[in-house]
Amino acid sequence: MFDNIKILYHQGKQFIPDVRKAELPGIFRGRPVITTARVDERALEELCPVNAISIQPVTIDLGKCAFCGECARCFPGKISFTTDYHISANKRERLFIREGDMEAITMNPATVRKEIHQLFRRSLKLRQVSAAGDNSCEWELNACNNVQFDMSRFGIDFVASPRHADGIVITGPISVNMAEPLQLTYDAVPDPKIIVLAGTDAISGGIFAGSPALDRSFIERYPVDLYIPGNPPHPLTIINGLLDLTRMR
Ligand code: SF4
Repeated sequence: MFDNIKILYHQGKQFIPDVRKAELPGIFRGRPVITTARVDERALEELCPVNAISIQPVTIDLGKCAFCGECARCFPGKISFTTDYHISANKRERLFIREGDMEAITMNPATVRKEIHQLFRRSLKLRQVSAAGDNSCEWELNACNNVQFDMSRFGIDFVASPRHADGIVITGPISVNMAEPLQLTYDAVPDPKIIVLAGTDAISGGIFAGSPALDRSFIERYPVDLYIPGNPPHPLTIINGLLDLTRMR
């Protein structure tokens, strides 16, 4: 036993003690900030590879943004990325960052369905559906339960069967081939259930938006409870988004 204590002492803590306040290195691209500096807005709009930028006023849609950083590189006085990873929202419109917008993205508990707070506050089991994902978002979801992020400590876990789940987490742009399996999985989850979209591809189709190979009608049929932006999203964005959705602050 003494040897085990010695090992623990030397290894230190492997988990992040406070996932709410952990700091990420400057290389991380989180919530963007857009200044009111005057630039060639048309050129700015056109350089975005995924049409995430609109103008008058300059706005970035985090549901489309691939976080490539090109806009900040070409227009450094106009756009910069903070390391703020609290960018999940339960309303699609909260993902639009406008020029002059300096405030953090927060979730208003009053806009969250009541049964989510009542039933999933202490325990949330999720079934993941990779609907033509590229394995990047799936990889980060997997990382949420490693020893570092340890999402299980909050009672949030992924389960194998949709019968045991309280909701689904969709990754990928939803291909035609995955539309039916997605529907079957959702139907197998008992009510009440939640829908989470993780990653740019799931939220907007990402770089595949508009492709005839996609069938995104599922997103139009059901209300989405949580949008987690990122390409892929960071585990801290995922965990904080789920905590914000399920626990009233
Ligand atoms: S970081 Fe986002 S908004 Fe900027 S160019 Fe890349 S995809 Fe477009």
